[in-house]
Amino acid sequence: SEPLVQVSQLKKYFPVRSNLFGKKTGDVKAVDGVDFTIRRGETFGLVGESGSGKSTIGRMLLRLGEKSEGEILYKGIDLYALTREELRKMRPQMQMVFQDPYSSLNPRIRIGEAIGEALIEHGFVGKGEVRERVLEVLHLCGLAAHHIDRFPHEFSGGQRQRIGIARAIALDPDFIVADEPVSALDVSIQAQIINLLHDLQESRQLTYLFISHDLSVVEHLCSTVGVLYLGSFVEVASRDELFDHPQHPYTRALLSAVPIADPTFKREKIILKGDIPSPLDPPSGCKFHTRCPLAQEVCQAERPALRDLGAGHLVACHLV
Ligand code: SF4
Ligand code: MG
Repeated sequence: SEPLVQVSQLKKYFPVRSNLFGKKTGDVKAVDGVDFTIRRGETFGLVGESGSGKSTIGRMLLRLGEKSEGEILYKGIDLYALTREELRKMRPQMQMVFQDPYSSLNPRIRIGEAIGEALIEHGFVGKGEVRERVLEVLHLCGLAAHHIDRFPHEFSGGQRQRIGIARAIALDPDFIVADEPVSALDVSIQAQIINLLHDLQESRQLTYLFISHDLSVVEHLCSTVGVLYLGSFVEVASRDELFDHPQHPYTRALLSAVPIADPTFKREKIILKGDIPSPLDPPSGCKFHTRCPLAQEVCQAERPALRDLGAGHLVACHLV
């Protein structure tokens, strides 16, 4: 299918100051030059530990934050070249689902109103039809009609995420960024929410950027997966390629932590040393070398380029 979102050399730097009023002493390279394409109807999984830059990328793809460099084309249009008014008109097409929908819901507003206000604001329906439209969307998201007059605190975590999704799809978007949408939920509830996202994708031709720190979560929904480490991709591949033939030592380590249902299938166990280093002072050369079980001398000196092994399987490692 055709590209919906095309990202090239996207960078986000945060200035670092010696103190609150001090002069700039450097930059945190939270996103350090990423390229990728999301095709219509697909789910692109963005995976990495906290601090890898995945939420920052997600926000920039919806122009919810400023970028430092690079370009994002949405339906071929340069998102950052839009005027405020052009962006406002485009807003309904691009929606976000958050990890904690509760924090984005006003506790004193009934959920019917919370979903309906955006419909009215963007002129989708008049006051007379809004209730009917909200009931439709609640139903699609597996919520009962009587929920429309309830307040956010009356719902469980899973139901709140259904509300978050209902609010996102009410405006009939094409593109949804889901930032860790199931990370706060029990495993059994996670599966329900992932199934809901999948069903909605089919029935409403949605395209997703699905952000997660957990590879096992992206396996069921994503067609393409990009693995981020300290603001850069270390590996990008189709879901099947990535899970069956992971090439980068970091991807292999993340995969070794994923439980496998089939007991005859064995995956090597790789335990990573330490935590992700501070993006304030990232390691030289390959940024993964301080934790890589295969690191060589060259890894400290030279940063490996992201190379195409064929069929769009990209890997950044000197040994591959
Ligand atoms: Fe490990 Fe070196 Fe490959 Fe980096 S380039 S992942 S340190 S082997
Ligand atoms: Mg995050």
